[in-house]
Amino acid sequence: MPEIPEIYAMASQLNEVMADEIIKKAEVSQEKCLNVPPEKFGDEVTGARIRRVTPTGKWIFVHMSGSRKLLVNLGMGADVRWNRAGEKPQVRLIFSSGSTLSLKFWWFGHVHLVKDDEMPAHRSTANLGPDALDDELTEDRFMQLMQSRRGQIKPLLQNQKFIAGIGNVYVQDMLFAAGIHPRSRVPAIPKEKLQKLYRGMKRQLSCAVELSGIAYERDIYGNPGRLEHFQVAYREGEECPRCGESIKKEKVGSSAAYFCPRCQILHR
Ligand SMILES: [Zn+2]
Repeated sequence: MPEIPEIYAMASQLNEVMADEIIKKAEVSQEKCLNVPPEKFGDEVTGARIRRVTPTGKWIFVHMSGSRKLLVNLGMGADVRWNRAGEKPQVRLIFSSGSTLSLKFWWFGHVHLVKDDEMPAHRSTANLGPDALDDELTEDRFMQLMQSRRGQIKPLLQNQKFIAGIGNVYVQDMLFAAGIHPRSRVPAIPKEKLQKLYRGMKRQLSCAVELSGIAYERDIYGNPGRLEHFQVAYREGEECPRCGESIKKEKVGSSAAYFCPRCQILHR
C-alpha cells in the first residue's frame, strides 16, 4: 500500500506531465470509484485545465481550473499510469494533447470530485492530521500532539487523523530507530525517545522519497522504486542488524508489527 514516499514520487511526476493539460474526456468503468454519477463527473471535468498536482498524506490532489479538485486515494494500491494501455482501468482521463492517465485500483481506491469551497465538508481529507513531511509538523508540534494521547504508539502513528501518510511499512523501522517497542503506551515513552522518533520519521521518509519509494511499488511509467532494504520491516526471523536477536512479528492493534525484542523497549 503506497505511503508518503510513493505518493510524493507519483504526485511529483504527475505534476510534471499533467500541469496545463486540458481534460478532453473521462472514461469510467466502475462508478463506485467516484463520489458523483459518471455522467456528472464527465460533464464537470471535460474542458478543465490541470493547474498542479500535490501530495497530502496518502492522497494525491489534482487541482483544476474552475476551483475544483480531483482527490485521488489509491486505497490498498493502484496502477497509476501515464500513456499506458493495458488492463482496463476503472478511471481514465484523456487529455487534449492525446496523453492519458489510467487509474487501475486494486482495492478500495477512489477519485472524488470536490469544489474548493466544499473541501471542509469532505470528511476523509478534512479530518487528516498534518502530513508527516509537511514543514508545519515541527518537533514542537509533534511533541504537543503526542501529549494528548494515551494509546499504543504504533497504531497512533498509522492513524491518518493524527499524522497523515504513514502506513504499515515505514512505521516499523521508525520505531526500531527510536528503540521503541510498537506496543509501548505513548505517555510512558521518554521525551528523548519521542524526539528521536520524530527525527527518524522525517529522515526515513525523506530518504525514501529520494529513492522514489519501495521497490515493489511502481511509478507512473511502471518503474519500481529504488528502496530495497529495511532494518526490521517484513524481516521476521532474520537477525536484528544491531544486536543479532531474531526479529519478531506480532499483531499490534489491527496490523502486524515487526520489531527487535531486545533493542526496542516496551514502555508501559
Ligand atoms: Zn536488536
